[in-house]
Amino acid sequence: MDRTARISGFHRLSVSERLGKLQEFAALSDEEVALLNRRAHLDIETADRMIENVVGTFELPLGIATNLLINGKEYLVPLAVEESSVVAALSNAANMVRSGGGFFTTSTGPVMIAQIQLIDVPDPFGAKMKILERRDEVIAIANEQDPVLVSLGGGCKDIEVRVLDSEMGPMVITHLLVDTKDAMGGNAVNTMAEALARHIEAYTGGRVLLRILSNLADRRLVRARCLVKKDAIKGGESTVDAILFACAFADADPYRAATHNKGIMNGITPIVIATGNDSRAIEAGAHAYAARSGRYRALSRWEKTAEGDLEGTIEMPLAAGLIGGATALHPLAKVSLKVLGVTRAAELSEIMAACGLGQNLAALRALASEGIQRGHMSLHAKNIAMMAGAAGALIDKVAQRLVEDGKIRVDWAKKILEEFSRKS
Ligand code: NAD
Repeated sequence: MDRTARISGFHRLSVSERLGKLQEFAALSDEEVALLNRRAHLDIETADRMIENVVGTFELPLGIATNLLINGKEYLVPLAVEESSVVAALSNAANMVRSGGGFFTTSTGPVMIAQIQLIDVPDPFGAKMKILERRDEVIAIANEQDPVLVSLGGGCKDIEVRVLDSEMGPMVITHLLVDTKDAMGGNAVNTMAEALARHIEAYTGGRVLLRILSNLADRRLVRARCLVKKDAIKGGESTVDAILFACAFADADPYRAATHNKGIMNGITPIVIATGNDSRAIEAGAHAYAARSGRYRALSRWEKTAEGDLEGTIEMPLAAGLIGGATALHPLAKVSLKVLGVTRAAELSEIMAACGLGQNLAALRALASEGIQRGHMSLHAKNIAMMAGAAGALIDKVAQRLVEDGKIRVDWAKKILEEFSRKS
């Protein structure tokens, strides 16, 4: 039987029942299931080698978003996140999007930019030309640094040189355009940039200062599109219209755009973390791209089709890898990649973009109708119950009462707890 990510009532199952479904979907081994079920996934020895001055490890909940259909393929998506309602929102949005055939994605390919900053040149335009005249040599020196990447068909493919006017005077910036294949590429491109410094100095007589990757990865763009039939959205065409106004607001106003894009990142960053990727790199790239016109704008667009249905699109840089960094070191990152069933970094990035768009849809749908708090706060009620001191079975009982009373507040949870303890 064909597998499906549409698992109804997944949220009502116990953790071990969910693990059973996941094992079946992703053909996880018993060891991988045991790993998911374990409390400490990252042993202290591994952690101690990953970063400096280690004193412990820090855990987050790992949830599974259901219903994702991307380019006709079924996905269950692991999300490592502390915020309630993110997993539910994505699963709901993915369900709505199925009405239009799911998400459709493309990407440009994994080209990263490394920057080499040249200063102290009296003739910046002449220096630019001198570097460009040695384009083939520059590419060859860059590629000597990473024979593995080159053997896989990747490596430095081209260069660009810009003369930049700055408050410290003109400077000449060389960009290495590097196909990093299935790696995020931070280390790979930095090594190339560093190796080229003395050569650029020799070509120009100037002094090289910074040699580092740019997180504005605008040669590594991913795109996603989805169509939501108006009948699949609560409120129908009037919600579609309201979403268009919400989107226009975000595009016109950076105060709103920041929150609009934060909602998109709610669908992306948790996958980035679950797969051991660099969340700071991806967040920096997303926000820099959102501001590329000179004004910070929305990363997504929502339009109404001739039939009155809702069509969403997103385009953004997404430097996620399957090789290198923590993706290869963190045992749960490997399980997350297996659950996703991805074999190429491009596929992983495209899933992230689709989930960002899905999360955006969920937020806009709620904001443009009943508001975000109803759904969010009822899921957050368990956290409030725990903050008030509830433990064990009392957490669900107190949370339920908070929702029934319509007062999802810590002071109210404390009152309910006192009431329960007087009764028992
Ligand atoms: P890496 O150096 O650990 O691994 C990449 C290397 O793996 C490649 O250079 C290649 O030699 C090899 N490789 C083997 N199979 C490959 C395949 N199929 N595709 C591509 N390469 C393959 O990792 P990386 O991706 O170069 O660097 C990622 C790390 O860089 C992240 O941890 C990130 O945090 C860090 N970093 C980020 C920044 C930044 O964002 N500004 C700066 C510096 C470092």
